[in-house]
Amino acid sequence: MVGVSVEIADIPDLPDGVPEHFREQGIEELYPPQGEAVEAGVAEGESVVASVPTASGKTLIAELAMLTSVARGGKALYIVPLRALASEKKAEFEEFEQYGVDVGVSTGNYDSDGDWLAQKDIIVATSEKVDSLVRNGAQWVDDLTCVVADEVHLVDDSNRGPTLEVTLAKLRKLNDQLQTVALSATVGNADAIAEWLDATLVDSTWRPIDLRKGVLYGQALHLDDGSKKQISRGNEKATAALVEDTLTDEGSSLVFVNSRRNAEAAARRLGDVTRDYLDSEEQDRLREIAADIRDASDTQTSDDLADAVEKGSAFHHAGLSSDSRALVEDAFRDRLVKVISATPPLAAGVNTPSRRVIVRDWRRYDGDVGGMAPLDVLEVHQMFGRAGRPGLDPYGEAVLIANSHDELDELFDRYVWADPEPVRSKLAAEPALRTHILATVASGFADTEDELVSFLERTLYATQTDYVDPMSAAEIIDGLRDADDRPTALGLFHLVARTPDMYELYLRSGDRADYTELAYERETEFLGSMPSEFDDNAFEDWLSALKTARLLEDWASELDEDAIAERYGVGPGDIRGKVETAEWLLNAAERLAGELDLEWGPAIREARKRVEYGVEEELLDLAGVRNVGRKRARRLYEAGIESRADLREADKSVVLGAVRGRRKTAETILENVGRKDPDLTGVEADETAEASTAADASADDGSGQQSLGDFE
Ligand code: ADP
Repeated sequence: MVGVSVEIADIPDLPDGVPEHFREQGIEELYPPQGEAVEAGVAEGESVVASVPTASGKTLIAELAMLTSVARGGKALYIVPLRALASEKKAEFEEFEQYGVDVGVSTGNYDSDGDWLAQKDIIVATSEKVDSLVRNGAQWVDDLTCVVADEVHLVDDSNRGPTLEVTLAKLRKLNDQLQTVALSATVGNADAIAEWLDATLVDSTWRPIDLRKGVLYGQALHLDDGSKKQISRGNEKATAALVEDTLTDEGSSLVFVNSRRNAEAAARRLGDVTRDYLDSEEQDRLREIAADIRDASDTQTSDDLADAVEKGSAFHHAGLSSDSRALVEDAFRDRLVKVISATPPLAAGVNTPSRRVIVRDWRRYDGDVGGMAPLDVLEVHQMFGRAGRPGLDPYGEAVLIANSHDELDELFDRYVWADPEPVRSKLAAEPALRTHILATVASGFADTEDELVSFLERTLYATQTDYVDPMSAAEIIDGLRDADDRPTALGLFHLVARTPDMYELYLRSGDRADYTELAYERETEFLGSMPSEFDDNAFEDWLSALKTARLLEDWASELDEDAIAERYGVGPGDIRGKVETAEWLLNAAERLAGELDLEWGPAIREARKRVEYGVEEELLDLAGVRNVGRKRARRLYEAGIESRADLREADKSVVLGAVRGRRKTAETILENVGRKDPDLTGVEADETAEASTAADASADDGSGQQSLGDFE
């Protein structure tokens, strides 16, 4: 099939206008791997696994599958590996809305996702969200004709992999005819993934731009073609010298490091290099972007980011808000930001090519080993893949840094010459299997042992092993059975925080004492027994679950995101992650309570809603209205509007005052609550309502949508 030349115009079934749209974007002739995918029938409903290097046009393969599926009257789902990528992908696919293709993002909130997503043609969601929607029986899932799994090699990831694997297995069990398109980085055994998904394999190493790989040792950059390049450095560290060398050639660099803190520190230091290379126009524009970053969020992290961006340097990690992230990515693509220091997720999903990629840290802390462990070849190759902008750079250059001659050899062997590892299912990792089986049973997805086995057979795990050992973990059941009184929110948060699905918040120094004290103070609220203080490991685990539970309680008590971030030493992205995980676990708990005829259903539901909206009990009604969110709900409440019914009847000037005179917002809210006459023409904001809420004015970021996980 190699050498077949396929043009977009040759593909039948694309919605009207789409071929021209692609042409305007400079996409006319398909890249060779794309051509192979079309030959394999990806535009005709056939399942395909595309194992292709980063930045070689995988997204287009997915788009061809989804758009043709939709044009034939179907519905497509695009599964992203990271929450951070959902809004980015949605924005990408929204370009097709002008051709009649509706795009939506699942917020993972069943109540608000149920109906309106049924109207969409393409839905973007993380596998966790799809999993929760399937579990809740969202109707539209049955209508899907095409599912795309982005970064499918992540089934190998022990944290995220099992959910992705189980989700794909469930979707395929629900619909035997479902077209499955899986996009993968180049891996050692893409054929196994294709076999699992009954798909045709497109396996290619083709890249749109030449890639040179190498290792810097001292002043010599050793490249894989045998050549050497001199990188001049005085007292500079290797990374700074490489960044400066790229700058003298008017190129930009991406630096990969192993932790958020290191990304922030590197960005600060590299700013001292880049600032000397900015002209006055660039300085002005960077100052504006820095101001936008400060506006987007008022955390310390944003301030640090803005300070670095002013100098032409930035950091990028999952702790940043999606607004800040988008600002950084755009500024980098516009060549204003000259260097980004990032943690590995950037390599995976975000399309930010640069002249040079520097992999500064090739080891990172691994909890399983209890120390530093080398990165996978696959990960490093994905970082390499971001080097070189097709059409702009002559070639891309990917560089590792060695500190000794031995390390120079080692890095060549380990990463430059090496092939990526094969992908292995991580479903067998015991906590994952336990939780997924529990959830599968709890959701009624499999009622009998036979059904459970038939479901498990559809996993990659089953195709890679011939022995399944289902074990049932009854943490939640035990906890609920143990309750004598109506459980409190904290008790329930703690119960779900103890399950293996909620990754731990580490106890920092001093935490052990603080949380032990709290444990005794609120002893009566916990479900199940507290481990003995002398059983060190069990007690530590229990306390770190308590720390998570406290974070959730703070969130559900309307504490500011910033304050929470500071109190627990986490980023906004982490808070979001905890909140969403708690939501679906509480959902599972509610179902379990129902199955077991326990009377705690309403208490669990209330705790779930509080965590979903981030509010106290009295705001639950109001906060559920779209576009209201936790902050506005509180202000409306303080202005005397305590329920949806109140909001439908309320004096419009009071509503306008409570949302600080934001007319469009007020109208949207009134519309969403079902008010007959939402129009606010001529209405003046009530000053008392405005003033009574002015105290926390700084907390209004303009969007007012503080309900986490809301990507709309
Ligand atoms: P991947 O998903 O494989 O990492 P992307 O889909 O992000 O790669 O593609 C990288 C870039 O290549 C995008 O900017 C995209 O617009 C461009 N591109 C993809 N296919 C073609 C094509 N056939 N012709 C020209 N440019 C293309």
